[in-house]
Amino acid sequence: MQDNQVHHNFEAIRKKIERTCNRWDRKPDEINLVAVSKKQNDDRINAALTCGHRLFGENRVQEATERWSARKARYPELRIHLIGPLQTNKVRDAVALFDCIETIDRPKLADAVAKEVRKQGKTLPCFIQVNTGDEDQKSGVRISDLDALVDYAVNGSGLDITGLMCIPPVDEPPGMHFALLASHARRLGLKELSMGMSGDFEKAIAAGATYIRVGSAIFGARESR
Ligand SMILES: *Cc1c(COP(=O)(O)O)cnc(C)c1O
Repeated sequence: MQDNQVHHNFEAIRKKIERTCNRWDRKPDEINLVAVSKKQNDDRINAALTCGHRLFGENRVQEATERWSARKARYPELRIHLIGPLQTNKVRDAVALFDCIETIDRPKLADAVAKEVRKQGKTLPCFIQVNTGDEDQKSGVRISDLDALVDYAVNGSGLDITGLMCIPPVDEPPGMHFALLASHARRLGLKELSMGMSGDFEKAIAAGATYIRVGSAIFGARESR
């Protein structure tokens, strides 16, 4: 894919965001577009930077560190979100690199991240990942344990929890999962909602998303690396 293809894709997505916001009486600047750069090559990453894009998502700590740590020194306004599962032995590197961890899903991880945030003297907003489909294989806290985890992460660990994130089951219509996540965020007084990917971000915006995570619709198919 060429530079101008990435540019073209950004434009097309911006237009879709605008159109969807108009339709649902939302403002386009409420929608943060997280460009999911995992497994994409340098040409595509650089094309996105050339377009002026500064908000990216990654699902693996080490891959993200390789891709972004030098670029962060060059572009101080870059913000990188962790959108994949986090093991406690990677917490130090994750806290050092990321500007938001979207995948807090258990008390032990909340404690480990909070401790490291204090140690590194950072401010680091985090989201709780919710397993809205109650799937055995999927990370994320179950709905039945959500309130206890939010309470623990905020009042026990001392994390700055600002939102919820979900990845709906692949074989179900995503709209009901987005609505469910939005209703819990409202009830818990959490402002941010990370939901919606290339195939369903318009539905997520309709349901109240403030962060959409879009990879292939911007960069094209991922390389297996
Ligand atoms: C890879 C990934 C995305 C992006 O998926 P696309 O379908 O390429 O837009 C979004 N969210 C998470 C958690 C991902 O792992």
